[in-house]
Amino acid sequence: MTLVSPHKKAKALKPGSRRPAKELCSECGLCDTYYIHYVKEACAFINQQFDALEQQTHGRDRHLDQENELYFGVHRHMFAARKIEPIEGAQWTGIVSSIAIAMLTNGLVEGVVCVQNTKEDRFQPQPIIATTPAEVLAAKVNKPTLSPNLSVLEQIETSGMKRLLVIGVGCQIQALRAVEKQLGLEKLYVLGTPCVDNVTRAGLQKFLDTTSRSPDTVVHYEFMQDFRIHFKHADGSIEKVPFFGLKTNQLKDVFAPSCMSCFDYVNSLADLVVGYMGAPFGWQWIVVRNQTGAEMLELVKDQLETQPVMSQGNRKEAVQQSIPAYDKGITLPMWAAKLMGVVIEKIGPKGLEYAKFSIDSHFTRNYLYTKRNYPEKLAKHVPEFAKRIVSQYKLPD
Ligand code: FAD
Ligand code: SF4
Repeated sequence: MTLVSPHKKAKALKPGSRRPAKELCSECGLCDTYYIHYVKEACAFINQQFDALEQQTHGRDRHLDQENELYFGVHRHMFAARKIEPIEGAQWTGIVSSIAIAMLTNGLVEGVVCVQNTKEDRFQPQPIIATTPAEVLAAKVNKPTLSPNLSVLEQIETSGMKRLLVIGVGCQIQALRAVEKQLGLEKLYVLGTPCVDNVTRAGLQKFLDTTSRSPDTVVHYEFMQDFRIHFKHADGSIEKVPFFGLKTNQLKDVFAPSCMSCFDYVNSLADLVVGYMGAPFGWQWIVVRNQTGAEMLELVKDQLETQPVMSQGNRKEAVQQSIPAYDKGITLPMWAAKLMGVVIEKIGPKGLEYAKFSIDSHFTRNYLYTKRNYPEKLAKHVPEFAKRIVSQYKLPD
């Protein structure tokens, strides 16, 4: 008799035919595979388990009494960095792609889970397991939509790979960590990016159509530390739209319900996180969470210039005042939005204080969203660190 491993048996569950998290599903890809068998334990939106997974991954919980750990999760150190020779066409300077390439060429891993785009649509995600630097490079730049990165997990087992790097956002990494032991790997490396306010492909179109002057030519965009969205167009021009001028009344439902109920902005379970939110404008923000993350970073340190993180300003009042605006979907006239953007950029929070401003604003909004739409989930789904962050503010009912 042949023994069948539990996840093989799970094929009977018809992968892809169900999303047990229903409308909260972030399309992380797990349910497209036979690992759907583990979904009730693994899904970030069904079973919040940061404490157990932080223990498993980093060997300890985050120190809730230290403000930087409360906000940014378990870490050894943080700093700002940029590539001395940036990768043309990367989201920022290409630190993520460079680390992945170095891990492949140095033989640390045999494959890299990353996400390219389809031939027809530059924003439609196409997850792959890259085995060459060229395939990693073809995955550079954000696909700013929900991406089923974990849909390639079955291929790991069939390929016989034993050492793997996965690049992904928080919800994907939570599910990955929960099934990590079932993947049969000798070593898993996780390179995370922060993530917030993601959208479906249709939602992205609505966002571009309502916000950009030329939606069809946008090649990439980012919500920047200067409180503006920077759209880069195909001709290289940059369009800047102030956050406060967003047509929030039309965009209220554009963000995916999963992202409106997410509290893992900073990708707590990655070994190494590369974003921008805690760094000065033009720099990337690096968070080394554990020894594995330190080893990954070591491979590219000669390619980077660095500076310490800084923190300036006081976010608390701005966060408190923005809560009703988020809540009611208020849109300022464009002249007022621009003026507000300029004033806030001059006197507003910078560096780590900006990152905390952004976390506070999103966690308070998401807490209210969860409370109103999924009251039965609130107590268990919101992690303790997020409850402490939210409790600093006065919220409407
Ligand atoms: P590159 O070298 O260009 O590589 C980008 C990598 O991202 C690629 O390897 C690709 O596989 C991966 N990727 C692309 N799209 C997706 C996707 N949809 N899901 C999973 N992986 C993907 N940083 C912040 O500080 N604050 C934010 O609010 C923030 N929001 C983000 C939202 C999304 C949807 C994504 C994907 C990233 C976000 N980031 C955020 C991270 C930031 O925008 C950059 O991706 C990061 O700094 C790396 O830049 P880079 O030039 O080194 O990346
Ligand atoms: Fe499945 Fe992932 Fe959706 Fe959860 S978020 S239901 S694990 S595909």
